[in-house]
Amino acid sequence: MLRQQAYRFRIYPSNTQADLFRRTIGCCRLVYNLCLDQKTLEHHRSAPRRLSYAGQCDGLTELKREVEWLRVVPHHPLQQAIRDLHRAFTNFFEGRARYPSFRRKGENESFRYPDPKQIKLEEERIFLPKAGWVKLVQHRPVEGDVKNATVSMIAGDWFVSIQVEQEVAEPALNHGPAVGVDLGVEQPITLSDGTVFALPRVSLHERRRLASAQQSVARRRKGSKNRAKALRRVARLQAKFARRRRDAAHKATTIIAKNHGMVVVEALKVRNMTASARGSAEEPGSKVSQKAGLNRSLLDIAPGKIRAMLAYKAPWHGSRLIAVDPAYTSQECSSCRTVDAKSRISRSQFVCTNCGLIENADVNAARSILARGLGTTGGRPGMACGSSRAGGRKQEVAPAKARNSVLQGRE
Ligand SMILES: [Zn+2]
Repeated sequence: MLRQQAYRFRIYPSNTQADLFRRTIGCCRLVYNLCLDQKTLEHHRSAPRRLSYAGQCDGLTELKREVEWLRVVPHHPLQQAIRDLHRAFTNFFEGRARYPSFRRKGENESFRYPDPKQIKLEEERIFLPKAGWVKLVQHRPVEGDVKNATVSMIAGDWFVSIQVEQEVAEPALNHGPAVGVDLGVEQPITLSDGTVFALPRVSLHERRRLASAQQSVARRRKGSKNRAKALRRVARLQAKFARRRRDAAHKATTIIAKNHGMVVVEALKVRNMTASARGSAEEPGSKVSQKAGLNRSLLDIAPGKIRAMLAYKAPWHGSRLIAVDPAYTSQECSSCRTVDAKSRISRSQFVCTNCGLIENADVNAARSILARGLGTTGGRPGMACGSSRAGGRKQEVAPAKARNSVLQGRE
């Protein structure tokens, strides 16, 4: 089995190196946006030529002849930016994503070195083209062959994410029990056996701290140094919350994948659930404020990320992941299978209107999900995924891809 894995380490570039990284991020953004602009214009022409990846890379070479500062930054990350754009177009044409949008400053500040031949990893340092040796804190050993490296800046800190690949023995079939996983509202992760993983959420106190930091941004003059400082404070707080959640999610998903032979999750479409509450001017949404609150807790724990983690970790532990139809799992009785919205009497309580079952709402949902995975209810077993043993659509994908397909659900 070819095992792909990514390691993320903190790096400490010198001022010159950090400056180069910042420029590279900017140049990648520029190239991405220019190419997107070209593609969009091309699309509106009467006889579109269909700009190819190779064609746009040639264009980049021409551009570099004229623009001096594009020659200062490493070349491959710029090409990678064009590749990213073409991947975004593929995702769009295949219905997985919206039309590619322009990259904006301050969003997703990263770039990738795609050529492993140019990357050298030694103890406590990494060699990156044009930057040279960069100090790195390697908190765990890297196993496998380096495939690429992505440098990113998050709230002023620098990180490198190293993707590796290695051939490992096929793990023994996991004979653990099957489990249904509810990625929920009241509790982030609830298992059908009643286990609850409480991911650290942002506490009320922390939310207030964040709010006050955001307020001080609003009070300060645009473009001022103090405003920049306040913005950094907000970014650092948010990055801290995100790190904490991700760490807890990693621990929880490893435990789940390790101890179960089959993991059943909902193929949930987060985007639809979170985007539509407000509705449009013609059709205003209902219960906007409640749903906004729901969105906040949903986004707190990012179910899509948890699902993506399970998707790649399950095969590592000989387990398999099944995604089932998410419709009405929260309203279905896990005992008699009756679907009734009235059964869910509150966010946390489920009382079946048919058989009188009283259960925690999340546990009940997790059991319904498990039952669908086992194919005993209305859930179509053809939707099973993640293993060649199961029929139907295969959803087992590499982590990077999984993020997309899992987030989008099974459309
Ligand atoms: Zn019932």
